[in-house]
Amino acid sequence: MFSKDELLKSSSYVDGVWLQGEKKFAVDNPSSGETIIEVAEIEAEQVLGAIGAAEKALESWTARTAKDRAEILMRWYELIVEHADILAEILTLEQGKPVSEAKGEILYGASFIQWFAEEGKRAYGDIIPSPVEGARIFVRKEPVGVCAFITPWNFPSAMIARKLGAALAAGCTAVCKPAALTPLSALALMVLAEEAGVPKGVINMVVGTHSKEIGQAFTESEIVKKISFTGSTAVGKALYAQSASTVKKISLELGGNAPFIVFDDADIEAAVEGAIACKFRNAGQTCVCANRIYVQDAIYDSFAEKLAYKVEQMSVADGLKEGTDIGPLINEGGLKKVQVHIQDALDHGASIMCGGSAHALGGLFFEPTVLKNVSPDAKVAREETFGPVAPLFKFKDEDDVIAQANDTEFGLASYFYAKDMSRIWKVAERLQYGMVGVNTPIISNEVAPFGGVKESGIGREGSKYGLEEFMELKYILMQG
Ligand code: ADP
Repeated sequence: MFSKDELLKSSSYVDGVWLQGEKKFAVDNPSSGETIIEVAEIEAEQVLGAIGAAEKALESWTARTAKDRAEILMRWYELIVEHADILAEILTLEQGKPVSEAKGEILYGASFIQWFAEEGKRAYGDIIPSPVEGARIFVRKEPVGVCAFITPWNFPSAMIARKLGAALAAGCTAVCKPAALTPLSALALMVLAEEAGVPKGVINMVVGTHSKEIGQAFTESEIVKKISFTGSTAVGKALYAQSASTVKKISLELGGNAPFIVFDDADIEAAVEGAIACKFRNAGQTCVCANRIYVQDAIYDSFAEKLAYKVEQMSVADGLKEGTDIGPLINEGGLKKVQVHIQDALDHGASIMCGGSAHALGGLFFEPTVLKNVSPDAKVAREETFGPVAPLFKFKDEDDVIAQANDTEFGLASYFYAKDMSRIWKVAERLQYGMVGVNTPIISNEVAPFGGVKESGIGREGSKYGLEEFMELKYILMQG
């Protein structure tokens, strides 16, 4: 068992070595503003070295049997589960979310490593009847090669685990860059990967604040064959364009603008609970969070009152404190965006049912907020707020709400509550989203395909489809 101090690392991990570096940057606790640890900034040549290490490790990792790789991944999974409490504490320290949620994230991330360990053994090929006499057609799946990952601060452990589980099971090696705001969870996973027996060079973790340069090193490299990115739409588009020069395979998990629809036949109590779970998890800082809550006119007022009553009782505090529902926002920029969105909604005629201001605790804490009678022209309707703000919109009927819900360039997650079966199927099929939650606010798990349509992204993570993102088809024609 490793201690917290042994899991708290302060430099990049490349080719099985913890690199040293003169230049440091601070990783701060968003609850207190205090520095947790200073981390060594990776240098440009070291990033290239990490890509080279992944290339060197590729041949022997690919050559192993899937069963062999699965055994190592399973050991890694078990070590993560064993250390879940310490990993959750590190996650809360750097990211701010309540520690119970942090533990949920650790176990959620681990579940992808377990799933892909199993699924890697089932990367079946195909035999196709040939149109030519005497010929045989075989199709096999091969790993794409060296992969590069860039991940965000809102799920600093699970986004890395989700990508690495699939890539390693497929037989790929990787270089990863976690967000500079939250590199500690990713580095802690490397301690456990090494202990599990992941060979040196198979995973390389590079940490630094100059994300644009690191991203360019990844996209310009001829060695890197695949980019997988989770983060903002703007950066995702840039990486997509940058990857064109070497025609890389790409997966993008970008922004969302999730509608959460409550029809008048819904179980209202369940919908209120669902809206809270969907909206306020991680203080509203997730790409699948309800961003726009649409309520049918007949139940609008009673839903709004019930929701505001419950939201007012949520406890805002340091995530390490027992019973905390909502921790701090990640930084000043995040706080400012929430304030701008609320003011803009008010300017467009909305009213505040609860919250609306910075929390009395000060710092990066913000009151959970419910806004009523929000205009479809307000910023909260068009952009991701990424904060604890629930804007309520009113709708008349199915056609009206489907038109409003689909009126966005995003298409990641969507949710609705209803009981009528014919309505349920129709609405689920008409929503232009990669994921639809019906009478449930939480849709992510390791066995289902996570991903978006429209400008929310390309590709899927998790599930049997997630493995394919890291494999290429090779067709072999045998004559005679
Ligand atoms: P967020 O709003 O969640 O911070 P970003 O897209 O800015 O979303 O960040 C997600 C990840 O992308 C982080 O690891 C960040 O450091 C990285 N990143 C930011 N800008 C760039 C860039 N120009 N090129 C490559 N990576 C970047």
